Amino acid sequence: MEPVNYAQEGLVFDIQRFSVNDGPGIRTIVFLNGCPLRCQWCANPESQLLRPVVMFNDLECIHCGICKTVCKQGAISPNNKGLIDRTKCIGCGECSIACPAGALVMKGKKMTVEEVIRELKKDGSQYRRSGGGLTISGGEPLVQHEFTLELLKAAHAQGWNTAIETTGFADEEIIKKVLPHVDLSLTDVKSMDSKTHEEFTGVPNEKILKNVKLISEITNIMVRVPVIPGVNEKKEDILKIAEFAKTLNQQNLMGINLLPYHSMGENKYKMLGRDYKLHGLQMMNRDDINVLREQVERTGIPCKVG
Ligand code: SF4
Ligand code: SF4
Repeated sequence: MEPVNYAQEGLVFDIQRFSVNDGPGIRTIVFLNGCPLRCQWCANPESQLLRPVVMFNDLECIHCGICKTVCKQGAISPNNKGLIDRTKCIGCGECSIACPAGALVMKGKKMTVEEVIRELKKDGSQYRRSGGGLTISGGEPLVQHEFTLELLKAAHAQGWNTAIETTGFADEEIIKKVLPHVDLSLTDVKSMDSKTHEEFTGVPNEKILKNVKLISEITNIMVRVPVIPGVNEKKEDILKIAEFAKTLNQQNLMGINLLPYHSMGENKYKMLGRDYKLHGLQMMNRDDINVLREQVERTGIPCKVG
């Protein structure tokens, strides 16, 4: 067993217990800040920066003006109480501490590996009974690769299953260092067309596809495809991804997981003072998704939806 640095710090923006969709058994998902991609459908936009961000919920605001008085950066407009100028905000969190209505919430908190493991231990017996454990998500967990690595080692030291949800956009050396400590990598493949990939995520796909192959050589991999109308919802788009999945190490390929587009993250963009580029995009209907699932299954690869 490798030694674990329990004092290693990371920036965590959420911890969700009792998940059953992000790896085997009952799991806790630890969400980390920082992501090099900017997927237009991202449901966790609060995760993207590698620093704490403040979210403002105007429905909760009682317009007391306290936030404006405590902000040393002058980031809160005198005319729009609670409305934050993001170019001035440094994410110090003073406003959220002072807000009496809970209208300002910080996302991103420094935690040590020891503190996260203490939280996870609350469900240790559930993990053991169900074969579950820890899933690290984000953001992109490999941005904070030192923290991710220590957290994975610490989870294994407890005998828990480990998984990560990754974009695959990281340096090869980091993948080679971290992935041997992962029991299942839930790895996104969003489009086989690099131009489309760059248009909708901000980065081309070549590095990702190379890393997906590498991951499949190291550990179990589930290829995850967020199915987005106008991006990759056509049969040929999904079949190209299935063809690519056939080039991976088949011993480790668990299947393809189609994740139909949803707009549940849209309100978060408003709370961050950002535009949601996919506003008004229709969700896919179940029949269309099932057609895609059947297409994938015909290639011999197990496929599930959602
Ligand atoms: S997080 Fe800090 S800098 Fe940002 S608006 Fe609140 S008090 Fe001002
Ligand atoms: S402190 Fe909270 S409730 Fe008061 S104006 Fe600011 S955001 Fe609104």
